[in-house]
Amino acid sequence: MNTLILVDIQYDFLPGGALGVENGDKIIPVLNSLQNKFDLVVATQDWHPKDHGSFASNHKNKKPFEETKLGGLDQILWPDHCIQGRKGAEFSSELNLHKAEAIIRKGTDPKIDSYSGFFDNGKKKATGLGDYLKGRGVSRVFIGGLAADFCVGFTALDAIELGFETIVLEDCTRPIDMEGWEKMKDSIRTKGGKILPSTEINLK
Ligand SMILES: [Zn+2]
Repeated sequence: MNTLILVDIQYDFLPGGALGVENGDKIIPVLNSLQNKFDLVVATQDWHPKDHGSFASNHKNKKPFEETKLGGLDQILWPDHCIQGRKGAEFSSELNLHKAEAIIRKGTDPKIDSYSGFFDNGKKKATGLGDYLKGRGVSRVFIGGLAADFCVGFTALDAIELGFETIVLEDCTRPIDMEGWEKMKDSIRTKGGKILPSTEINLK
């Protein structure tokens, strides 16, 4: 069973958003055109309370992209983004979500960040996505969305660890930082995942 996971395709991660990824909007038409080829489509949504500890604004004398500790882990501080109920947290209206059977929200605990769609960054709490996919008999996941070097990458690493055959669709994601994405691609490949353009996938 082939599943497509749409990661965080929300206004704040799109050009013009609080944490906009360059050319992030370019992935949407490609993902829309692919969806009918999949047996199951799910989406993740970054969904932070406004006092979230990953926001630089919630730390004294800290600026976005500086580092701190959160939940005992190294944490990059971000501009305020994807605040629950605000426009920036909404999915792009360009994205077709009609086929999405589940929407998994993450990053709701102010004390820890959650890049992966499966777990928080400390792996203390699961979002339920892994059990949901296993319950649906999913064996193979294809991942697209934003941003490649963070939420897409960590979702892929956890998918591999949970035993799913994992393919990141290279033309369906864009990074915040190209160097970080190259490192992330190495980790994904080393752990057994694949990174392929959507034109080269075989869904049989
Ligand atoms: Zn976030």
